[in-house]
Amino acid sequence: MEPRRYRLAMAISESDIAAVRAATDIVALITEQVALKKTGRRWTGLCPFHGEKTPSFSVNAEEGRYYCFGCRVAGDQITWVRETMHLDFVDAVRLLADRASIELHEDANASKERKERQRLFEAMERAVDWYHHRLLEAPDARVARDYLRSRGISGEIARQFRLGWAPDQWDALVNATHFDEAVLTGTGLGFVNQRGRKQDAMRARLIFPIFDPSGKAIAMGGRVMPGATRPDGTPQAKYKNSPETPIYSKRRTLYALNWAKDDVIRTGEIIVCEGYTDVIAFFGAGMPRAVATCGTALGEEHFRAMRNFAKRIVLAYDADQAGQSAAASVYQWERQHEVDVAVARLPRGTDPAELAQRDPVALAQSVADAVPFLQFRLERVLELADFATPEGRARAGERAIEVLAEHPSELVRDQYVMQVADRLRLDVAMLRARVADVARGETRIAPIVAPPRPAAGRLPRPGIEALRLCVHFADLRTRFDVAYFVHEVQRDAFSALTSGEPISSVIERLDHQGLEEAARVLSEVVVDDPGPRPTDAAIAAVVAQLLRHASDVALHELERELRSGTVAPEVAVTVIRDVKERLALLGSDQGESAEASLREWLAGRLAAQLT
Ligand SMILES: [Zn+2]
Repeated sequence: MEPRRYRLAMAISESDIAAVRAATDIVALITEQVALKKTGRRWTGLCPFHGEKTPSFSVNAEEGRYYCFGCRVAGDQITWVRETMHLDFVDAVRLLADRASIELHEDANASKERKERQRLFEAMERAVDWYHHRLLEAPDARVARDYLRSRGISGEIARQFRLGWAPDQWDALVNATHFDEAVLTGTGLGFVNQRGRKQDAMRARLIFPIFDPSGKAIAMGGRVMPGATRPDGTPQAKYKNSPETPIYSKRRTLYALNWAKDDVIRTGEIIVCEGYTDVIAFFGAGMPRAVATCGTALGEEHFRAMRNFAKRIVLAYDADQAGQSAAASVYQWERQHEVDVAVARLPRGTDPAELAQRDPVALAQSVADAVPFLQFRLERVLELADFATPEGRARAGERAIEVLAEHPSELVRDQYVMQVADRLRLDVAMLRARVADVARGETRIAPIVAPPRPAAGRLPRPGIEALRLCVHFADLRTRFDVAYFVHEVQRDAFSALTSGEPISSVIERLDHQGLEEAARVLSEVVVDDPGPRPTDAAIAAVVAQLLRHASDVALHELERELRSGTVAPEVAVTVIRDVKERLALLGSDQGESAEASLREWLAGRLAAQLT
């Protein structure tokens, strides 16, 4: 069968995956990051995937499913771990298996690779610890401690961020830990030099350990002390970062996300800085929601990591740096990940760490007053403009047109066209036309309108009610037939349910068959609170409602066939009369036999349609 194939590459068996799902309490898992409240038989809370003030995020504890009625995200325990910790499927299953002390039956290669990664994580943790104690205790770390104090970084903060000190020696870490060569190079903590001796990667540097979102140490950044020079007297690079390793990807990692996560979820806002000390400064100034890229520009994968947590991304860069971010990419990421990117207006030539020390209130204000990216870019153009002469204003106008045209939305562009025309005293119509011309020629980005999401709410109501019963009271599935569902999506959903597998497996299978809408319908009804088991009369009413709806649709088709001459009038008239008679009997004491014959009729029509 089709859905089994995708598993082959993953090397984790279906039964292991089922065991992991069964062993993981989804409410306990989610409440590690989101507050859930029990309402009736389900749990609800504020959705971590989109900003909201009233809870539309629902969890069904028994089936292990979550669904948001606002942004329509849906999933199970594994999806949750994948989305919130951005792990791939296999790593998510491994993490949950670890939590539940389930041993996975992986193939030999996968388990070897896993053990190797485990060894690297452990070594990294040990190194972080060793460097950290060096900073706190060793006499030779005084220079680092003095430097931190001068930058307003207290011992408490140093402990919180587990800062460290790499002594001014070639092999201090190597000698203390006896890491083997595979571990040294696998973590980037050291290497083997030309004389065949093991050597540390970091020397005489302040250490900023870097963790993954779950809090595992994966890399480190090392900062030189002011004035440090190489043996030949030239200044050293200020920062040295771990290389890419099997446990560390720069493109994907945001420094401090492990600590910032909670506040980011709480506020819906994330602050992106350039340096580790900037991040620490924001935490110190009472905004523990700052992260930094690790020696690389902000990119697509960083956005992917952030959109799980934040709706608003505030860039707190030095003004010149922020203006230079690739505008086209930023706008595209904004639309693709449904986030807003704003820029904090820091005084020119100041970074957040300096401002925090001098004026923490001003730092907080700069984040609160952060302006949309486009506005920030336009302000920069206008700041540099020469307003005194018509030529100066025209030049600024040309620059503004270029900046405006980069934005993919005409609606957004137009709001700023007015502002720019006002400031530069240019003709609005002319400016608007020029922007439109440039935008048409240069933007390759699709129009702003998002593709319509299939709305489960638009599917026929009787079918939804029936599916709700089938999902929550499995024994009632036999009361229904696939032919009762007039909408293809609901038919697919119902057929999938009849396999009797757990709901998460059913939904996953639908997804992999490309039947996402059917998967979504089930994702939604499974988190509804079904209340107590309905009475027989209530069940019969749902069945009758569905049958009436299906029969009405079928009768309309029959009438159309009659008009177009594809069915003989005497046949059609008899059928229409019979069906109407039976519909009238639903709910009476002859209801059961009426139901049976309608079922037969509808199933026959569906079979004919499908052949
Ligand atoms: Zn949501």
